[in-house]
Amino acid sequence: MASFLKSLLVAGGAGFIGSHLSAALVENFDCDKLFIVDNLVTGSVDNIGDLIGSEKVEFIEGDIVELDKLSLETIKFSHILNFASIASPKTYAEKSIETLQTGSLGVFNLLDLAKSSGARFIHASTSEIYGDPMVHPQIETYYGNVNSVGPRSMYDEAKRFGEATVTAYHSKFGLSYALVRIFNTYGPKMGQNDGRVIPNFVNAALNNLDLEVYGDGLQTRSLCYVSDLVSGILKLTQSEFCGPINLGNPSEITVIDLAKKIIKSLDSTSKIIHLEGLADDPRQRCPDITLAKKVLNWEPEISFETGLLKTSEYFKLINSGAD
Ligand code: UDP
Repeated sequence: MASFLKSLLVAGGAGFIGSHLSAALVENFDCDKLFIVDNLVTGSVDNIGDLIGSEKVEFIEGDIVELDKLSLETIKFSHILNFASIASPKTYAEKSIETLQTGSLGVFNLLDLAKSSGARFIHASTSEIYGDPMVHPQIETYYGNVNSVGPRSMYDEAKRFGEATVTAYHSKFGLSYALVRIFNTYGPKMGQNDGRVIPNFVNAALNNLDLEVYGDGLQTRSLCYVSDLVSGILKLTQSEFCGPINLGNPSEITVIDLAKKIIKSLDSTSKIIHLEGLADDPRQRCPDITLAKKVLNWEPEISFETGLLKTSEYFKLINSGAD
């Protein structure tokens, strides 16, 4: 019997997507040990409460910007998955410097660890690298339309820089890697007050409060349920695909129709009100997932109705104060 220990590292593993991903890796991935590193800036230990009890899992509270403090260099990782980043527009604007540091210094640190381990590197990128897109739906070959000094620039440019950094480690050192361009994702464990559209609308509808639509509401998003996204990331981790790849649900909806749908589905008496539109808010967003279908044989399966039900059940539980 080989005594080789197969270790994985998920940075940002206590966050919304990172925690679902960590749980799926423990359950479905051939590994002996899963290390979760998170600075808990937006993540929470509650998100990984079930995992922390497992002897397969080790949680380390720490920041990838100061990775040298965590003594991980003695461990040989087979895979490093970087999901450490603030992702809500409201929060990354408030924590602009931290967002830029995590997306630059933090990525360098994790890449050096991957290089010395010979690990495959899965990097959470984003549809935001397309900015306010002039090509629709967005395909991986599109370069994007990003304002480098706008209110979203700390996130968009950090993610674009991250893509360039990971790609350079591949070119220079032969690192195996994938850049997951994640489109809007929702589900349980999203921060209730993180300002994104699903927590805002679902919580307002559950409490019969006004749903606040920014601008005319004709901007579009395409919403993917978190378990669908995670199944795509698992396939990507197991594959040898190198390069950027879109993962998201191509069913596109305007924000105003989303508000109406949520009110109706949750049987709410909420009204819709319009507030001033946000600067640089992308007008349309929809993934072209041809590549993911081809190389991963992946596409989303969960309907919005099912995903909304699971998400609203979660927020009801949080609102009731239950664990
Ligand atoms: N939005 C809104 N009301 C809210 C929250 C968001 O109208 O309470 C809109 C926002 O302007 C954007 C879309 O919903 O057009 C998605 O916003 P979110 O912050 O979830 O993510 P983004 O895709 O902009 O990163």
